[in-house]
Amino acid sequence: MNCLPTGRTSRPATAFTLIELLVVIAIIAILAAMLFPIFAQARAKARAINSLSNSRNFGLAISMYISDHDEALPLNSHTRPLGWKFGDPDPSWVDAVQPYVKSQLMARLPDDNSNNWAEMIDVAALAPGKTPRLTSYRTNAYLNNNKNGTGWVLAEIDAPASCVYVSESRENTASDHTHPMCWEGFAASTCVSIGSETEVEKRRYQGGANYTFVDGHAKWHKFEQTYNPRTGLDWWIPNKKAAAQYSRSYWQL
Ligand SMILES: [Zn+2]
Repeated sequence: MNCLPTGRTSRPATAFTLIELLVVIAIIAILAAMLFPIFAQARAKARAINSLSNSRNFGLAISMYISDHDEALPLNSHTRPLGWKFGDPDPSWVDAVQPYVKSQLMARLPDDNSNNWAEMIDVAALAPGKTPRLTSYRTNAYLNNNKNGTGWVLAEIDAPASCVYVSESRENTASDHTHPMCWEGFAASTCVSIGSETEVEKRRYQGGANYTFVDGHAKWHKFEQTYNPRTGLDWWIPNKKAAAQYSRSYWQL
């Protein structure tokens, strides 16, 4: 007897063969391929939840504004006085609601990839009447009465819990409000070029977006769950009687 190896192999028993290594690598690759889409979905879900929380905080801020202003909703940019230019005091809800929110992210979503924010463009070189993007959101212009300079009051709205007040704003646009009275299937000569697609960022989060309602609650919806001219579904009209009464020419675009 001696202490020499038996001669079957000189490879230490703990080492991997090339085949074993390739199998392990293949298994890792398969697992990664299965898990990466799940991680991507989780990230997308997290972003949607973050945005929903933003929309809920907006609802809270608007509710506080309303109770501080005799139940009247904040106005939109149409109430800017003649000769208004960027940098002047802004009567838009963007500034009116700001004291009620803690973070600028309320107005500007991290997922908003617009490239026309004030610090990204030459504001002075803009054509007259053009403004840089101020916010990732738009309010519903039905609810920004520009006739007498005051907002709608809560009691005028038929169903605050199913009336959209704030929606996500289409990227790279600048307005602070939507014009649902002008959207497809509902167009008139004064606003024929406006479609919901050009105003609302409808599918940023998992095929839908977050909407804040007049009662302050916020929820994720597919846009078509809020507005469908074919079926007559419309969660944007605050008061059917008033909507019928106000002709298109009422709205200054
Ligand atoms: Zn307008």
